[in-house]
Amino acid sequence: MHSPLHSIEHVAIDSSGDLGSLYNEYFDSIVQTPSRSSPRETIQIEDPVKCDLIDGSREKSQNLLALIGMRENARLNTLLNFVPRNRLTSIINHPYPIDKYTRLIYYCYTNRNEKLPRDAAAFRKLSQQKDRHTGATHIITSFSLGIGVILIIQLLPNDQIVAQVDKVLRKCVRILKGTHKPTAITSNDENLMQQNTSIVVYSNMSYLTGVTSLRDVCQFINRRDESTEIFRPLAYNLNPIQLFYPEYAQTGLPCIPVESSCNRKIEEYLLQYLDTLKRLKQSLDSKETQVLSVNLEEPFYELQRRWLNLKNLYEHDVQLLKDLVNDIRHGRSDTSRVDEIISNKKIQTIYDNKVKSIVDDLHNLEHKQQWIADLIKRKFQYYNVGKFGVLQTDSELTIKEKLNLNDSYNRILCSTDHLNKNNAEKFNRLHHDLVEHNRKNPASHLTYADFSYCSFPLKDITILSSQDQPEGQKESKERGNSSSTCDTIDILLLGETGVGKSTFINAFANYLIFETLDEAETSQPVVLMPVSFMITTGDHFEEHIVKFGDSDDSSNEDFSHAGQSVTQRCKSYTFQMGDTHQRKLRIIDTPGFGDTRGIEQDDMNMQHILEYINNLTHLNAICFLLKPNSARLHISFQSYLTQLFSLLDPNALNNIIFCFTSARSTFYTPGDTAPLIKTVLSSLSIGNVPFSKKNVFCFDSESFRYLVARQNKIRFDNNEKEEYEMSWKTSASESKRLIEYIRKDITVYRIDNNLQSLKHAQFTILGMVRPILETIRNSLRNLILCSKDSVNARLELDPKVISHPSTNCMLCVPYACLVGQFWVAKTIPHEIQNNHCICECSPDQHTPIHYMLNHKVVKNSSKTDRDSVNHLLVRLCRACAQFSHFLRHSTDLSSHDPFFVGLIQLITEETHLCNNYKPNDLNTKLVADLRMQQKEYDKHSDEMERKGTQKSLADIYDLINTVREYPMMREQLVAINEGQRKLMKLYECEVSRTPRKYVDISGDSS
Ligand SMILES: [Zn+2]
Ligand SMILES: [Zn+2]
Repeated sequence: MHSPLHSIEHVAIDSSGDLGSLYNEYFDSIVQTPSRSSPRETIQIEDPVKCDLIDGSREKSQNLLALIGMRENARLNTLLNFVPRNRLTSIINHPYPIDKYTRLIYYCYTNRNEKLPRDAAAFRKLSQQKDRHTGATHIITSFSLGIGVILIIQLLPNDQIVAQVDKVLRKCVRILKGTHKPTAITSNDENLMQQNTSIVVYSNMSYLTGVTSLRDVCQFINRRDESTEIFRPLAYNLNPIQLFYPEYAQTGLPCIPVESSCNRKIEEYLLQYLDTLKRLKQSLDSKETQVLSVNLEEPFYELQRRWLNLKNLYEHDVQLLKDLVNDIRHGRSDTSRVDEIISNKKIQTIYDNKVKSIVDDLHNLEHKQQWIADLIKRKFQYYNVGKFGVLQTDSELTIKEKLNLNDSYNRILCSTDHLNKNNAEKFNRLHHDLVEHNRKNPASHLTYADFSYCSFPLKDITILSSQDQPEGQKESKERGNSSSTCDTIDILLLGETGVGKSTFINAFANYLIFETLDEAETSQPVVLMPVSFMITTGDHFEEHIVKFGDSDDSSNEDFSHAGQSVTQRCKSYTFQMGDTHQRKLRIIDTPGFGDTRGIEQDDMNMQHILEYINNLTHLNAICFLLKPNSARLHISFQSYLTQLFSLLDPNALNNIIFCFTSARSTFYTPGDTAPLIKTVLSSLSIGNVPFSKKNVFCFDSESFRYLVARQNKIRFDNNEKEEYEMSWKTSASESKRLIEYIRKDITVYRIDNNLQSLKHAQFTILGMVRPILETIRNSLRNLILCSKDSVNARLELDPKVISHPSTNCMLCVPYACLVGQFWVAKTIPHEIQNNHCICECSPDQHTPIHYMLNHKVVKNSSKTDRDSVNHLLVRLCRACAQFSHFLRHSTDLSSHDPFFVGLIQLITEETHLCNNYKPNDLNTKLVADLRMQQKEYDKHSDEMERKGTQKSLADIYDLINTVREYPMMREQLVAINEGQRKLMKLYECEVSRTPRKYVDISGDSS
C-alpha cells in the first residue's frame, strides 16, 4: 500500500482537469474544478516526442491500458467501469485481440508542462471555500499537455504484404519523429494501406479518432504547433490534498485502497475473459464477411446470439467485481471474497464449455460450408429446409409441396448432418447414384435438402423425386407464372371457423373434376390438403375417424382443433380443372373468422388477409362460405366485409359470391341464413352487394365425406349410396355453374393496377417505414464520413431477402459489427413458432421483417455530394411527417406513429452501440444527428397538425411514388416485395391431376 502523502503521476483519463482541480484517486475522477483559472508556470519540454512501432506478436499481455502508461489502480477502475472510457482509455474496448498481424504505433508529444506556483500558501489564498465532502484525495499541481495517440493497425494475414506494410509503418514512425517529411508517404503507400489494413485510432484529441488514413494522422501531427490551444492533458501530477488543506487529514481517508496483489488478480482474470471474447468475435466477424452467411445464415446467427450471451455473462462478472471492490474500498468487505468470484470452478466450467462449443460449432460450420461447396461443384443445389417453412408437424406431402417439387426432373436427397455421420455408407451410395443419374440425364436437377436446422424429425436419408413425365408435357415454370393472371381463376375463400373450409376445398376440387360419384370412386381423387374427420354411420350412429390424403392428424383443422383455427396464414391451393380449357383454379384459404380466441384474433387475421391480398395481382371472386339455416350470422361477417372494402374499391363488390355447405338439408338453398345476410348487406355503407340466385351456390360436402369414408372401407347401405350419388351430382353441377359465372358474368378484379384506397395506402406506407428510416440513418452516416476530410469512403446499403417467416425483436440486443468506422447494429432474425420465440421476449415485441440489411464500405468513391444528401434528408423527413399525418387522420392507426417510434428505436440502438462499443466518435455524432432529425420531424408534424390541412389520397400516392424512387429506397422496397413473394410461395400448394408418385431410387426401401 502506498502512502497517501506521496505525489503521483497519472495518465489523464478525464481530460477536463485543470491546475487546482480536486481529484479522487480511488475512482480516478475529477471531483471539482476551480471556477477561475489558477496562476501557473509553464515549462517547455526538452525531448517532446516519443514514438514506437510495436509488433503485435510481442504484445502478449493484451494489456492495452498498461501500454498507454496507466497505473494499476486506474486500469482496474477502467476495467470495472468506475470511470467512463474516454478517448485514449477507450482502447480497452478495441473489439479484436492483438495478434501477430497487428501493429501498434504509440505516439506521444508533450507540448508543455504547466504547474501551480511553488508557494502553496499563495495558492491557498486564491482558491477559498473547498467543499470538504467531495471525497477528494489529491490536487492537480502540475500537468502535461500534448497529443497522445495509439494507432491499431490490423493487417491481412499475408506475409508478403506484411513486409511491405511494415516498411510503410517504419517510414511513418520516422515522419512522426520528425526525421522525415509527411510527403514521404506516397500514394502507393497509401493505397497499400487502404487495401490491406484497417486502422483504428485512439487519442486524447477528438479530431484524431475516426481518422482512417496514416497520411492524415501524420499531417495533423506535423501541423501540431500551429495553435497551442488545441492540446489536451496527457498526464496529471497529483499531490495529496492534506499538503494544502491540513484539515483534510482529520476527516480521514474516504477509501481503503485495494491491495496490489488483489488488483492484479482481478485484472488478469478480466483481461483473460475479455481476450477470449475478442478472439471469438474476431473469428465470427471475419467469417461473416466470408461465405458462411450465404447458405448457413441461421446456424451462424445462432452463434452470434451465443456470443452476445457470453458477453452478457462477462458484464455480469464485471458488475459483481465492481460492487465487491466498492465494498472493499468502503471497508464493508475484504479481499477474500474476490477469489470466490474469480476462482469459482463451477461457473468457470460452464463458461469454458460455452466458449468451447461456440469454437467447435464455428469450426463445424466452416467444414460444412466446404462440404456444401463440394456438393455444388457436383451440380447439387443446396436447400436449407428450415428456410422453406417446414414444421415439425408437416406431413410428407406438405414437405414435398414446400420444397416445391413441381419440377418433374428433380431428385432431392434429404438428410441431416447427424444421419450423414452415422450412416456415411448409405449417404455415399445415394450420393453416388444421384451423380450417376445426373450424368445419364443431364436435364435432371439434383438438390440436397438439409434437415439439420429445422424441427422436422427426419428419420433416415431418403431421396424424393417426382414421377418423370414425357418431355412434351413438362410444364415450364415460366409458363406457369405468366399464365397465372389470365388462365388461373383466383378465388379468395372467407369463412367462419368450423364451417369446414378444408373439406369444402377438397370437395369442390373433386366436384369440378368428376361429374359423378362413380367416376370419382374409380379414379384417384384429388387431394388438395390432407384432412381427417369424424363420420357416423348406421342405426347406432357409430363414429369413425376417416383420413383423406397423407395426414397424421396433428395439422387438422376440421377435426382435432374444432373452433380454434390452426390456419393462421393464407394458403393457396392450385389445381388443374378437368375442363377442355385446361385452366387452373387457385383457391386461397384464409384464417377463419369468429375465432374462439376473440375479436382481437379476428382483427389480426383480417390484417393478415388484407396484407396477403395486397400482394396479389388479381382476384376473380371473393367467396364467403356459410352454413344455411343459421339462427344468427357471426358478427365478424359484417366486420370482415367492411374491412375488405377499406382495401378494395367498390368495383370488387361484383366479385362477391356466397357458397353454402351442408345445403342438402335445406334442399340446396341458403335457408334461414338468407334473410340474415340481406339485413346485414343492406346496413353496410360500402355499396350494393349482390345477393341473388346468380351469385349464390349451394353444395353438400357430405357426398365427398362419403367418398372418403368408402375409401376408408366403411360400409353404407344402398339407400345412403343413392342419396350421396344424387348429392354429388347436384354439387358437381353447382360447381360448374360457379366457374361459368366467374368466367362469363363477372370481370376480373385487378389489384396490381393502380388500386388506390385508404387501406392500400396505409399498407404501402407502413411497408416503407423501415426503408425510409434506414435511408435516413445511412445518409447521416455518409454526411459524417464526408465531413471528415480524411475519410474517402461511404457506406452502402445491401438488403438481403429473407425467404421464410422472420421477425425482428425490439428488446433483444443486436449484434454489433464494425463497418468502416461505424458500429452497425445487426439484427439477428427471429422465427416465431407456435406463438413463441427462442428469445423469450413476448411475441408482440417482434415485428415481421422481409430483409436483412448488410452494409458495405465503398472506398475511394467519388465524394458524397453533401447538398444532394442534405436535400434528400429534408425531403424524407417531410415525407415521414406527411405520411404520419395521413395515417393519424385518415386511417384507423390513430394512436400509433410508426415513424416516431422508428426514429426513437434508431436512437436507442445507436446509443446502445455508443455505450458498449469503442471507438464510437462517429456513432456518437450519429446519435446527435438522429436527434436533430427527430426534432425536425416533430417540427414538421406540429406544423401540419396546426395547419390541419389534409392531403388528398391522390396527393399521398404521388408522394409515395416520389419517395419510392429515392436512392437507397428502391433496393429495399424490391427486397421487401421479393421477400413477401417468397413467403407467399411457401404457403402455395400446386397439385397436379395425376397424383405424383415419390420414387425412392435408392432401391432399398421396402
Ligand atoms: Zn427478444
Ligand atoms: Zn425473439
